[in-house]
Amino acid sequence: MLVSATEMLKKAKEGHYAVGQFNINNLEWTKAILQTAQELNSPVILGVSEGAGKYMCGFETVAAMVKAMDKSLGITVPVALHLDHGTYDGCYKCIKAGFTSIMFDGSHYAIEENIEKTKELVAVAHGMGMSIEAEVGSIGGEEDGVVGMGECADPAECKQIADLGVDMLAAGIGNIHGKYPANWAGLSFETLDAIQQKTGVMPLVLHGGTGIPADMIKKAIDLGVSKINVNTECQLAFQEATRKYVEAGKDLEGKGFDPRKLLAPGVEAIKATVKEKMELFGCVGKAN
Ligand SMILES: [Zn+2]
Repeated sequence: MLVSATEMLKKAKEGHYAVGQFNINNLEWTKAILQTAQELNSPVILGVSEGAGKYMCGFETVAAMVKAMDKSLGITVPVALHLDHGTYDGCYKCIKAGFTSIMFDGSHYAIEENIEKTKELVAVAHGMGMSIEAEVGSIGGEEDGVVGMGECADPAECKQIADLGVDMLAAGIGNIHGKYPANWAGLSFETLDAIQQKTGVMPLVLHGGTGIPADMIKKAIDLGVSKINVNTECQLAFQEATRKYVEAGKDLEGKGFDPRKLLAPGVEAIKATVKEKMELFGCVGKAN
């Protein structure tokens, strides 16, 4: 059931668990995530980066596919179709395409411009019944060619953005996109705590969920994180399973070349990853 992310995140914040955002790349990814959410009776957020949107022939194609799949698979759990790290123009494209949620990443603008653009998009998104995520303090690592430095957000700026009426707020707390380096300093719980105290009931978003140790994830949820983004981990799981299939020569046996067979181990690996994350985040059984 396609919905905005507002209610599911409000419930998550109140219930002290987090909803997973899993990024999609194609039909297989989308199907695997939707089926797992339904099986576990969990709310879910499908993340679409601008690069992935372009790859899938545009946001309209993505929205049409997700809507049709949600219907044909008989999905009853709440599903939000969310733009990940949207530009100003990208946000408008997704509003037009029928997404149910957007993220406006204005973190690379000066705070005044971030506020101005976020404020405008909050009004437009809410007018369409959509939820909106904003970002303060860039998230480190690389995503779609945008490289962030992994700074910690200023809690006072977080409050300024939260006061604009956004539904969820992404704030840098030392987290980064992609794989974490061996010398990573870990999450700054001091920063997270300070942000949570300033922003109150606002659901906070943890980007770069891949490879953060389980105890840090749990502590972050305790401190007010209600949405956790997972992208790289599903990619790595898919890659590893596909590699094993080919290396074992299974694509050469019988009809092992059939794409439905060739991609099946990767799909199963995505499902297992999504399940593991949903169990860790505490959102299993929270669909109602
Ligand atoms: Zn991110």
